[in-house]
Amino acid sequence: MIDVRTAFLLWVIQAGTLAILLLAIWLHAREQRYHLWFGLGFALQAIGLGMVALRDQIPDFLSIQIGNVLSLLGFVCWGKAMCSFDGRRTPPYIALPAVIWILGNLVPQLRAELGYRMAIYDVAAAAGLGTLGLLALKGSFSTRRYRVMLATVWFLQAGACLVFAYLATRIMPQTFNEMTLAVAVSIVGLVSFVTAMTLIAKMMMDRSEERLQALVRTDPLTGALNRRGFTEAYQQLVDSAPSAALSLLIFDLDHFKRVNDVYGHQVGDRVLLEFAEICKSLLPQRGAFGRTGGEEFAAVLAVSEARDAALFAETVRLALAERSIETDTETIHVTTSIGISVSALAAADLKKMMSQADAALYAAKAQGRNRTSVKAGAIVVTVPPERADDFDQQADRQVAILKRIAAVANNLHD
Ligand code: GH3
Ligand code: MG
Ligand code: MG
Repeated sequence: MIDVRTAFLLWVIQAGTLAILLLAIWLHAREQRYHLWFGLGFALQAIGLGMVALRDQIPDFLSIQIGNVLSLLGFVCWGKAMCSFDGRRTPPYIALPAVIWILGNLVPQLRAELGYRMAIYDVAAAAGLGTLGLLALKGSFSTRRYRVMLATVWFLQAGACLVFAYLATRIMPQTFNEMTLAVAVSIVGLVSFVTAMTLIAKMMMDRSEERLQALVRTDPLTGALNRRGFTEAYQQLVDSAPSAALSLLIFDLDHFKRVNDVYGHQVGDRVLLEFAEICKSLLPQRGAFGRTGGEEFAAVLAVSEARDAALFAETVRLALAERSIETDTETIHVTTSIGISVSALAAADLKKMMSQADAALYAAKAQGRNRTSVKAGAIVVTVPPERADDFDQQADRQVAILKRIAAVANNLHD
């Protein structure tokens, strides 16, 4: 049987090793602050319990009061780490372990007895572990299965701490060396924290993998899907769309080369970014949007008929035309032409829809740009552009668009 001091030493070595490991990881990737908080938590545990283990070798106040508070502050850091991992605000109740210890020690009768102090520590630790379990359950990080496993480990450890608290008040050890119960506490802590950290490490790896996967599918300039991401999103919509039809839209900015030539590449990049933002903000829920080429974007929508897609296209087109873009010297306006194709969901084929939308786009460009054309069967129908007086009735914007679409609606069916 290992003695009390050896048990504490084991715990200090383990917590210290984890602290060094996590803080080293944090130094390499500082934006992931949960490494910092997990690492600090273990560092505080190592230092705090190290001070407790030095009982009779350092002043009692340092060993008992400071040591225990530091190690309980470890739980507070872990709570903070869980919130940071989950990208949410830290609730004040994560401070509970330290508060319980301090309040318990304000009662002279409790403070005077080693057994009661152990019980207060174990109740405080149980509160910290219970909080961690709750945070794991409430979180949205990783899969639910892992969160439940993590919470279970912490709840079991919290339960064990409460049993230890009860036993401490029954055994009432008088000297540090009689605290044989602490051996069991340390061993349970050792096993459960290694289990918890293994689970958390797995979650962190999953998250890195998810980030990499997202990166592979994202256009770095606009944050929209890239061609690969868009192709996958298209397929997902084909597999899950509730509607009978799908619509594919190609947006090509008008005279974009001129924007670059006159105002510089940086302004060009900003235009691309602003356009992507407009599209993303207006995109219906059942749809996807991506950048498929230099100044060419595409969207796919679940629609019931072509006019749904034309409405979206016209809304985006007008929003861009009205967006003022500041350059160093002046305010500019940029427009886009849009080509649309529609297909029955059962017959949807990305290549075919792209080439049909492209044909429509070609017509929109040929007719003067800044307009929407729809490939409907063998013909291409162009939505008549707005008249100047349309702009007088801003409030009826959607109505005006619908009217213009309605004017060609009969031709939109095959
Ligand atoms: P049109 O109205 O016929 O579409 O004319 P356009 O000038 O838009 O078409 P064109 O295909 O001739 O030019 C596209 C330009 O887009 C050329 C290229 O320099 C620019 N471009 C492509 N990718 C980027 C990018 O990432 N950033 C910037 N700033 N410009 C880009
Ligand atoms: Mg182009
Ligand atoms: Mg262009």
